[in-house]
Amino acid sequence: MINILRRYIQTAITFINNSYFGFIFSGKIYQGQLKSFCAPGLNCYSCPAAIWACPIGSLQTIFASIRISLQNFKFHIGLYIFGFLGTIGMLVGRFPCGWLCPFGFLQELIHKIPSKKINIPSWTQYGKYFFLFFFVILLPLVVIDQFGYGMTWFCKFVCPAGTLEAGIPMTLLDPSLRRLIGVLFYNKLIVLIIILIAMVFIRRPFCRTICPLGGFYSFFNKISIVRMRHDDKKCVRCNQCFRDCPMHLKFYEGANQLNCIRCFKCYATSCKYGAISVEFVGKEQQKVIKENLV
Ligand code: SF4
Ligand code: SF4
Repeated sequence: MINILRRYIQTAITFINNSYFGFIFSGKIYQGQLKSFCAPGLNCYSCPAAIWACPIGSLQTIFASIRISLQNFKFHIGLYIFGFLGTIGMLVGRFPCGWLCPFGFLQELIHKIPSKKINIPSWTQYGKYFFLFFFVILLPLVVIDQFGYGMTWFCKFVCPAGTLEAGIPMTLLDPSLRRLIGVLFYNKLIVLIIILIAMVFIRRPFCRTICPLGGFYSFFNKISIVRMRHDDKKCVRCNQCFRDCPMHLKFYEGANQLNCIRCFKCYATSCKYGAISVEFVGKEQQKVIKENLV
């Protein structure tokens, strides 16, 4: 039941996030008032159908403009983005990655293509902190142009979601953009192709190793109001949670690991021994939630 519910929500969120179809007639992206707000998951601002801003694009824009803003005594530096993402993190940790992110959803769908499945070493999970620190925070803050503005490094050089949702459709829609295609576009296309191929063989490779948004939310997994709990006495190490987990986690190695996206699959369907439960403000919710969801 919970897996079906998650699929419905992932599908609905993907369509809601990208529900501006006026671009078909105008050839332009939506720039109305909703773009002042962020989606909770990765969803490119420049996708022609996107109605929200992307949280990672917004974070980079803050760091890219913070110096010039402060120099000009403008203290409007987008703290609401930190507030918005921090509030979500404090409430539910990485839950948006599992339920509300179109690019995460795409990875799960592509991984269903029959093939030999492989794993990657667990240290690769720290890659996303590299991208968060260098590409989202440090480079936009430090490397500035003659006007004092930095660049959105992650969007410009890495983000495969941006290439898929915005780069490719916009160059197809706008002939003037096709004339501007250069090395940068081809580099990003290569990144996208590599990640799309990796999705076939590896469970959620982008979320596990690169996504700075997942990195940001992961800091909250251990302290959020909704958390998960493991009962070692009940666990028989059957490894069913590991086989089912979209992030390739062994739950018994630690509840609330950095890569847990709170899909609740292990809790609702994998563990037949009652070793996994969900807690809300420190109170175990096993019976109430499980009766409703399983
Ligand atoms: S499915 Fe449950 S019993 Fe089996 S290894 Fe995971 S936590 Fe332990
Ligand atoms: S550990 Fe459980 S809740 Fe976390 S991602 Fe894996 S299956 Fe989902």
